Amino acid sequence: MSTQRHTALQDLVVVEGKKIKHYSGKRITEIFGSHVFGERAMREFLSDEAYKSLSASIKAGEKMDRKIADQVAAGMKGWAEKMGVTHFSHWFQPLTGATAEKHDSFFTIKGDGTAIEIFDGDALIQQEPDASSFPNGGIRATFEARGYTAWDPSSPAFVIETGYGKTLCIPTIFIAYNGESLDFKAPLLKSIHALDKAAVDVCHYFDKNVSKVVATLGWEQEYFVIDEKMANARPDVVMCGRTLVGHAPAKGQQLDDHYFGTIPERVFEFMQDFEQEAYKLGIPLRTRHNEVAPGQFECAPIYEEANIAVDHNSMLMDIMAKVAKRHQLQCLLHEKPFAGVNGSGKHNNWSLSTDTGVNLLSPGKTPRTNLMFLTFFVNTIKAVHDNADLMRAAIASAGNDHRLGANEAPPAIISVYIGKYLTQVLNEVEERVKEKFNEQDEVILKLDIHKQIPELLLDNTDRNRTSPFAFTGNKFEFRAVGSEANCASPMIVMNTIMADTLKKFKADVDALIEKGDKKEIAIMQVLRQYIADSKKIRFEGDNYSEAWAKEAEKRGLNNKKTTPEALKFYETEAAKTLFINNEIYTERELAARVEIMLEDYVKKIQIEARMMGYIATNHILPAAINYQNTLIESVKGMMDIGLDKKTFKAQIDIIESINGHIQVVKDEVEAMIDARKKANNVDDMHKKADMYCNEVKPYFDKIRYHIDKLELIVDDKLWPLPKYREMLFLR
Ligand code: ADP
Ligand code: MG
Repeated sequence: MSTQRHTALQDLVVVEGKKIKHYSGKRITEIFGSHVFGERAMREFLSDEAYKSLSASIKAGEKMDRKIADQVAAGMKGWAEKMGVTHFSHWFQPLTGATAEKHDSFFTIKGDGTAIEIFDGDALIQQEPDASSFPNGGIRATFEARGYTAWDPSSPAFVIETGYGKTLCIPTIFIAYNGESLDFKAPLLKSIHALDKAAVDVCHYFDKNVSKVVATLGWEQEYFVIDEKMANARPDVVMCGRTLVGHAPAKGQQLDDHYFGTIPERVFEFMQDFEQEAYKLGIPLRTRHNEVAPGQFECAPIYEEANIAVDHNSMLMDIMAKVAKRHQLQCLLHEKPFAGVNGSGKHNNWSLSTDTGVNLLSPGKTPRTNLMFLTFFVNTIKAVHDNADLMRAAIASAGNDHRLGANEAPPAIISVYIGKYLTQVLNEVEERVKEKFNEQDEVILKLDIHKQIPELLLDNTDRNRTSPFAFTGNKFEFRAVGSEANCASPMIVMNTIMADTLKKFKADVDALIEKGDKKEIAIMQVLRQYIADSKKIRFEGDNYSEAWAKEAEKRGLNNKKTTPEALKFYETEAAKTLFINNEIYTERELAARVEIMLEDYVKKIQIEARMMGYIATNHILPAAINYQNTLIESVKGMMDIGLDKKTFKAQIDIIESINGHIQVVKDEVEAMIDARKKANNVDDMHKKADMYCNEVKPYFDKIRYHIDKLELIVDDKLWPLPKYREMLFLR
């Protein structure tokens, strides 16, 4: 019998890596940014006037004059056409997590019948995609279904190649007719702006020359790669992006032989190919390596401004999926494609950088710059302390639920790790800066930290891989983010809580100054208070341990393991106040967002439940019965030749054991379908999500357990689904 699995297995032997010519024989610098309307293209294709105006829009977010927009559009078109582009698209990031494009051609026919190619300011600035089917959380009733995309000049336009087709993509925000946001980018830009303003104000205590502060982001993307035919033979992988069943292989990741090992050649070819595509688009990839689980890999870029970095990550996820196909591979970005081995995350390295070239989370060399570092460092800890629940909410997704707290990824408890030396420094500040200062204040202010910190931090031996939010020398690393997530979600929360904390900090310091304190003294006093107030969020030990879960509970830190619970944090009064005060979301936008995320969660679990039922009923049970029949034939034969029952006891045992599993699988699938029906009848999205989470999803493990047992019993030849060992050990 030939199943899809067996064909895939046979073909696997003959698949040859697709040899690509590495970077067409060029250096990376020669192709880097070639498909981006960046500085060089702007200079070449824009008039001085248009160039200056666009630069100002990019730098200061200034609104562009309509006439100039026409010029910019004409320049972009000229540049794009030189590359063979025929169509343009407003490119945006709806809340489904994927990216969206709708292509229009430059080509048009004028009133008098002449055909021309045109791309003007209107087309550049605003479009109205027929977007009624993008999730909107009730913001757009269908009768007012218009959604608009609006150009974001701060992220450069780029050209995407698909096969032989080339499309000019304009990064845009996506909003409803009344201006309410429906995407990730609009609130991200608002959060970046809020943080810029709050951080510049605080910087002015130390340096009046700072006029802009940007959030920087360097993400590390983990992913799995499996053979495409194998993937196609698994309906769960095709429909859900993960395996719902599959017994652990004899060898998993216990030997640690994959991590940082030699990259398999087929995968290496794939990496080089997608890197090449990424470089053309100006995505500054830097690192590639194997990850811990077999079949798992990682790539990471040089950090960039958060807005650009978010776009680049979204673009890269698309590219990886597309390019994998060229290599007859499937790239799995899901947080947990395989049970029993590590899942995938996306570390978000976050910092703040001034237009004077200073990384605000990098310890300085002088007492003054060190006080600035200490200020931003302590404010970050305070921000996380005050808003830990929102950080948890920001990384909630059906996929990430499998990862958080599964002894291989940070737990669902948010805490901050800062390392031994900075702990010492904070303790010193707390102890030495007493209620009021005397004449020796200057000495205390220096705290000698400038002598200790830089060398010690650069050495950075003192790392804690288990922390969800760790300081790593000159940035914080948010490790609990899921691999499939849009980085904007955690970045919006990080920027907003930091902006909010810095505003409060400034108010607190100013109040002391007004009372007559010297500026530095006032700053130290407030920092001391913040350090004391945010102690419970700091944890230096093993975040994976059971002991930490207990300790965290004592400290009053939340440990919400599921998405429906975590999303409730967006709906507290504190969360509403935070987002509204900082002008990130209106109350309606926030409510719509939660609704959309809950709906997304429900749909994902619903699809998984359907697939689980389908695989059990249409793939597994027939295979098990098939094997049973073989055994029954064998038993019958032995009876026919008059053998004693004792001689075929083994066969009978196996038949009975299979029967047991078949019965449970069938019963549980039916019960799961009933649970689903009940949940489907509920309208309230919160309740529905809770039901899918607590009443439908628990069947997955029960059903899977018996299916995986059957995998160990049933004749390998009859098993229809590629097994873990066949998918994970790609060479
Ligand atoms: P690792 O964490 O693997 O030791 P690095 O510390 O060099 O590697 O950096 C990991 C990621 O952190 C990279 O994507 C890098 O660009 C990013 N990163 C480094 N500095 C910053 C910064 N100031 N702001 C944001 N991200 C940064
Ligand atoms: Mg890292």
